[in-house]
Amino acid sequence: QTEAAKFIERHPESSRLHQEALKSLPGGNTRSLLHTSPFPIFMKKGNGYELWDEDGNKYCDLVGELSAGLYGHSNPILQEAMEATIKNVGLSLGATNIHEQKYASFLCERFGLERLRFTNSGTEANLHCLAAARRFTGCSKVLVFRGGYHGSVLAFGAGVAPNNVDQADWVLAQYNDVAGVEAAFREGSDSGIAAVLVEGMQGSGGYIPASLEFLQKVRSESEKAGSLMILDEVMTSRLAPGGLKSVLGIQPDLVTLGKYLGGGMPFGAFGGRQDVMDVYNPLTPRPLAHSGTFQNNTLMLCTGYKGLTEVYTPQVVAEFNSHGDDLRQRLQQVFAGSKFCVTGRGSLMCIHATKTGLLPEQIICRDTVSQVEDVDLKNLFWMTMINAGFWVQTRGSIALNIAMPVAAMDAFVKAVEEFCLVYKTLI
Ligand code: PLP
Repeated sequence: QTEAAKFIERHPESSRLHQEALKSLPGGNTRSLLHTSPFPIFMKKGNGYELWDEDGNKYCDLVGELSAGLYGHSNPILQEAMEATIKNVGLSLGATNIHEQKYASFLCERFGLERLRFTNSGTEANLHCLAAARRFTGCSKVLVFRGGYHGSVLAFGAGVAPNNVDQADWVLAQYNDVAGVEAAFREGSDSGIAAVLVEGMQGSGGYIPASLEFLQKVRSESEKAGSLMILDEVMTSRLAPGGLKSVLGIQPDLVTLGKYLGGGMPFGAFGGRQDVMDVYNPLTPRPLAHSGTFQNNTLMLCTGYKGLTEVYTPQVVAEFNSHGDDLRQRLQQVFAGSKFCVTGRGSLMCIHATKTGLLPEQIICRDTVSQVEDVDLKNLFWMTMINAGFWVQTRGSIALNIAMPVAAMDAFVKAVEEFCLVYKTLI
């Protein structure tokens, strides 16, 4: 029996629900990335590190809500925080509240930011950073990198066709290309570059870490040009207590945050230098507007604060990410000599399938993978893992959650070994 036949046989209810969804959602879908062929699996519930679909199949959750699900599905401290907020504080108050000040102050301290503002998503955080940089510098161009993803309207070459808001203003360079950074700043020098927007490790692009030299170059060139460096830590802030920037020793002008920091609620934030953030200060003349209905909603503020102060403590950050490093290395050993390899850092990793069998260190930008990607093999891996009870993404990225025991990681390694054995002639 083929994996595809098994997939269809195991998910009759998802198939039926997909037909229903087609009647009100284009393609039955409201998040492009979550569409899969022949149909998406409909998930019913989650508990701890596990998920159950509408057909009653159980999965070990390795998607981790694209890194926002860091706490797993039922962390008792977060559940209690949500219940207490609903009961004692009330939902969005439509007013300035102390929870906003408390969490902002904590986040500033933890991530080394002078000032911070909340948004509802990482996308919004990046958009507001760009607006701040443009106002502060008086320039309009922004340097970004191929394969970079900063939100659905700020995507530069990974996945589905980009849907960028203002195409004209981008200067595009290659990720991890040190010489390219200098050339890009020269290219944009006539009208000036307001900012460079960069991930310390490309997330959507396939968990491709930046070299320190590359990020240092971005920092020094942006400083020289009077442009602001915006480090997108929406994915990477989980990798160290102070975010990836604290490990790398890079000091950007602005940082964007998102995902798990809302404790499971929608979340975004941006912050950094006080003089730049003051473009949004209502006590200054002609400040930029930054409004958004749920930006200071109490459920997110109280739960996010609880999660960071009582659950994802610096010690847990270190242990959790070192488990991730172990898992990545073990998977890489299993894949040694095959067409698969694993890139990433800490609790975030991506399994790539390439026709040429690239090694992790050869994957330095999205294009190195795209040019030789073995899409059929990647899909076979995805479907085999789904059939074996591991919730993984078609693109191969994995975001661990803290509810996952080491035994679940062992089981995943075993399933990957089995896959390599069964399909050894193909890999
Ligand atoms: N920046 C990065 C690096 C991301 O990975 C994402 C989402 O995956 C975003 C920004 C956008 O965040 P959101 O989906 O909360 O808008």
